[in-house]
Amino acid sequence: MKILLASSNKNKAVELTPVMPGHTILLPGEIGIKFDFEETGLTFLDNALGKAKALFTQTKTPVIGEDSGLCIPALGGEPGIYSARYGSDGTNKLGDKERNSYLLEKMKNISDRRAYFVCSMVLVLDCERFYVCQETVKGEITREPRGDGGFGYDPLFFITEYGKTAAELTAGEKNTVSHRGRAGRAMAKLIKSLEELKL
Ligand code: IMP
Repeated sequence: MKILLASSNKNKAVELTPVMPGHTILLPGEIGIKFDFEETGLTFLDNALGKAKALFTQTKTPVIGEDSGLCIPALGGEPGIYSARYGSDGTNKLGDKERNSYLLEKMKNISDRRAYFVCSMVLVLDCERFYVCQETVKGEITREPRGDGGFGYDPLFFITEYGKTAAELTAGEKNTVSHRGRAGRAMAKLIKSLEELKL
């Protein structure tokens, strides 16, 4: 199936493509569509559904809306749905490196380093037909960045079973455990069942 990903984040499309074999994942920009969505939802799911519906309204083709972020219980769930904008003064977003420094500074006196990523994905097939997969991965926030792979908070996100940060994993390893890899695999299975059920 040709699926539009309601996002401008290339990293997300690159990660999802091998997770959903047989499907073509395209960003709006790749087919000349300008897509900009203001995230006003209060949950990852609200935002994922909002993005998907907005792009579906524009294109009338199958769309996946994806909203994801890092949650840190010791910070009351921050950065959460504000992960992409964390640390910004409302005008300019910080770059990944600056945002990671901001987070490390916030956590410098915090010993409970537990954290998890959430990925909410909504496939919209028609105005009122949509399917949701939401997944997580648990980890811990390191004291300093490690690794050059991935994107966003990956250099700070330590995954115990690998003994590495997400940025030190290969793309395949990250997809095996990550919130996005898990949600994407569930979504691929879901699409297969929809096809089998002729829905
Ligand atoms: P949004 O879903 O586009 O609103 O932004 C999600 C933000 O959460 C990204 O800009 C990253 O900062 C962070 N994030 C989401 N998934 C990942 C990931 O797999 N690795 C690292 N950071 C992530």
